[in-house]
Amino acid sequence: MTMIGDNLQQVRARIQAACAAAGRDPVSVRLLAVSKTFPADAVREAHAAGQTAFGENYVQEGVAKIEALADLRERLEWHCIGPLQSNKTRVVAEHFDWVHGIDRLKIAQRLSEQRPAHLPPLRVCLQVNVDAGANKSGVAPEEVPALAQAVAALPRLALRGLMAIPEPAPDFEAQRALFLRAAAVFEQLRSAGLAVDTLSLGMSADLEAAVAAGSTMVRVGTAIFGGRPRA
Ligand SMILES: *Cc1c(COP(=O)(O)O)cnc(C)c1O
Repeated sequence: MTMIGDNLQQVRARIQAACAAAGRDPVSVRLLAVSKTFPADAVREAHAAGQTAFGENYVQEGVAKIEALADLRERLEWHCIGPLQSNKTRVVAEHFDWVHGIDRLKIAQRLSEQRPAHLPPLRVCLQVNVDAGANKSGVAPEEVPALAQAVAALPRLALRGLMAIPEPAPDFEAQRALFLRAAAVFEQLRSAGLAVDTLSLGMSADLEAAVAAGSTMVRVGTAIFGGRPRA
């Protein structure tokens, strides 16, 4: 067993334990392996250990890896999880399967217009800002329903849900409380009749609190690939 394979097993065990503690079915939580800053070979190794979904923050780096792993393209699912500028939407629409950080209609419109016809609709999540002030990216919770309706109407996008990146909180309960704010907005969208199924919450340090709050997709980097040099 390689180090990455071993780490993946440990992360899967953490997800299972968190699901057991929350009385949830472990298949209701997907693992997104965040491979930013790590080479294509690390992704290949994780894939060999059974991992299929990968997240990248930086568009150019992500596209370079997608191209380096073209032989696996049909078997991998690539998620763009970083902030997205207008001038990068075309390359994202052409290469990725998912985008998690939508916080403006203009970006969503460009992605829809630029999504190539031969590819399925791009799956997207809106980023909700659950701790206003601390973290500037994301949409305020009260603005999410209107943006969600507008994005759901775009022809070449499939709105799948919400993502949030709350600031680290001092303990499990405080972290869970922040995640629950995102879960409440998610429930609001479902009540409004939107067919959303993805709540992208939780990272290496706080995935247990995210699962306790209803996360359906945890985005884990460090616990799988190891530490990154601090930018
Ligand atoms: C880097 C990153 C992650 C993974 O964080 P770790 O703490 O390494 O697990 C998850 N989500 C986003 C948006 C990130 O930028």
